[in-house]
Amino acid sequence: MAETMQFKAEVKQLLDLVIHSLYSNPDIFLRELIANAADAIDKARFAALTDDKLTRDWQIRLALDKDKRTLSITDNGIGMTAEEVKENIGTIAKSGTRAFLENLKNAQAAGTPELIGQFGVGFYAAFMVADEVTIESRRAGVDAPAVRWSSNGNDEYTIEETERSESGTTVTLHIKADKDVYLENWKISEIVRKYSDFIEYPIILPFVKTNEDKTTSVEDRTLNSQKAIWLRPASEVTAEEHEAFFAHLAHGGKPLTTININAEGTNEFKALIYIPEETPFNLFMPDLQKKGLQLYVKRVFITDNCEALVPDYLRFLRGVVDSSDLPLNVSREILQENPLLGKIKRAVTSKVLGELKKMLERDPDKYKQFFKEFGKILKEGIHVDPANQEKIKDLVLYETMNGKAGELVTLKEYINAMPPEQEHIYYIIAESRQLAMASPALEIFRSKGFDVLLMTDPVDEFIMQSMMQYDKKYLKSANKGELEIEKDPDAEENALKEATAQYQKLLDFIFDKLQDKLSAVRLTRRLTDSACCLVGDTNSISPQLERLLKAMNQAAPESKRVLELNPNHPVVQVMQKLIDEDPASEKLAQYTELLYGEALLTEGSPLPDPLAFVKNVSALMK
Ligand code: ADP
Repeated sequence: MAETMQFKAEVKQLLDLVIHSLYSNPDIFLRELIANAADAIDKARFAALTDDKLTRDWQIRLALDKDKRTLSITDNGIGMTAEEVKENIGTIAKSGTRAFLENLKNAQAAGTPELIGQFGVGFYAAFMVADEVTIESRRAGVDAPAVRWSSNGNDEYTIEETERSESGTTVTLHIKADKDVYLENWKISEIVRKYSDFIEYPIILPFVKTNEDKTTSVEDRTLNSQKAIWLRPASEVTAEEHEAFFAHLAHGGKPLTTININAEGTNEFKALIYIPEETPFNLFMPDLQKKGLQLYVKRVFITDNCEALVPDYLRFLRGVVDSSDLPLNVSREILQENPLLGKIKRAVTSKVLGELKKMLERDPDKYKQFFKEFGKILKEGIHVDPANQEKIKDLVLYETMNGKAGELVTLKEYINAMPPEQEHIYYIIAESRQLAMASPALEIFRSKGFDVLLMTDPVDEFIMQSMMQYDKKYLKSANKGELEIEKDPDAEENALKEATAQYQKLLDFIFDKLQDKLSAVRLTRRLTDSACCLVGDTNSISPQLERLLKAMNQAAPESKRVLELNPNHPVVQVMQKLIDEDPASEKLAQYTELLYGEALLTEGSPLPDPLAFVKNVSALMK
């Protein structure tokens, strides 16, 4: 008995998008269905390694029927039980998809169908060209009835038992009235050659042939060359072939750079690795993200989720690693622990970092394009991969205070531009360039003609904890710790000490008023124009990070900071006068609160009590 079921809300939403808005290149539906068929065969072939009964003559067969207006794709892969069909096709199980769909809706640029596959719903692309899709499937290796699933892409689908002798899956598309072209042999052949040529199983389409005696007969033709692109000599593979293979791996998009590895000796492997041109949509959604490199052993697909193959901070890579020395017939879990994988990972990491360095040196514009997309991921390596830390430090780029917005420099370039009297590398972490530039902590650097690196990625804060030094120079925060700016600070230090003795009463007064918020109040040489600023301890976390952690409901260490005052500023001088004349004056207390509020506002922190601040301002304006 056929059962009619409702699609889950996410699926409806998705179908709606596929059918109504994402039309720019409907050809890709076939790429997605063939990819699914090949995946299913990969799985069956993997299972057959330990269960010989499952071995088949692996192939994908296409069939066209102009009268019935159907195109079908049949594989003899793993197949699905009824439960699996419901699970895989009727729902989008992965969380995060809803939020992602919203993104997709907003990003209706040309080429958006490319995005469909990126979050694991490639099957639905079929509804771009079909008004009805049927799946018939039988699971290999289990004793379960075959299943027939059918839907016209509206709210429902039906599912029922059916007869099918062979394990595997047939997907049949009833082609829409205005999509006749997908019933033509030439069109189907063209799409397969363009997008699926390297699929390693034969993709077969029957052709009707007219014989010499005018009779007709049907002949099977294999449409794809089946050449594993990563095993071919690099010089023979064309840019178009790379593009097609990349689109197959990443479900769309283009490669920025291709990296080949041909490792020989005791640990033989070949790798074909791409750096994508653009960030795939799903890169920041861990549950949608498959680890970038696929692992093959002697041309047999093993897994596309191999943690051990590439470090996390290179998770934007796409490609294939094919090893000839890993054992074939063990479980994936056991394979993941093989020490050869660790060696491959080290070799891949080192090669990729080396290629990036070359790109930076030879084609800085291309490198900058790469860095704008993936820099914030690559940077994580400084924190998590001590062995390669120094290499990654050479690869990070920053905007600087003296440079224009969007202009990026390496640490080396920063050092080369330092004036002789500058000893350290200075940086400031802020939520945006604008906030960083407004920070009073930069005043002294401006006045000295020193440049300051502007760090505005949320990860920068973590990374700077591991950065410490570059090229024997310390990296120092412009707004943390005591100011260390002169090579020989004695004269300035002495002047500051004298001033501090003079202002001690005021400093004590302010600290007394604000001691629940501050760890100290002191004078500084950091400021030239502003009256005050807040600085952290050398090891403290920034107010931005504190807010971020709190927003994520994580415990943030309560960091009390230091209020620094500029003794040359008229406001500070007025306060100094007041404390001598009338320490009990109400004004002095008001000024103290305002000063603290000003320090918070300039660094982009919210005022704890805006109303009180406004009242203070009004009182003074009267
Ligand atoms: P993706 O392939 O990216 O996971 P799809 O929407 O294309 O997303 O497919 C969803 C799931 O349905 C697949 O992960 C797979 O488990 C199952 N599936 C699709 N096509 C087939 C097939 N031909 N044979 C077996 N399983 C399939």
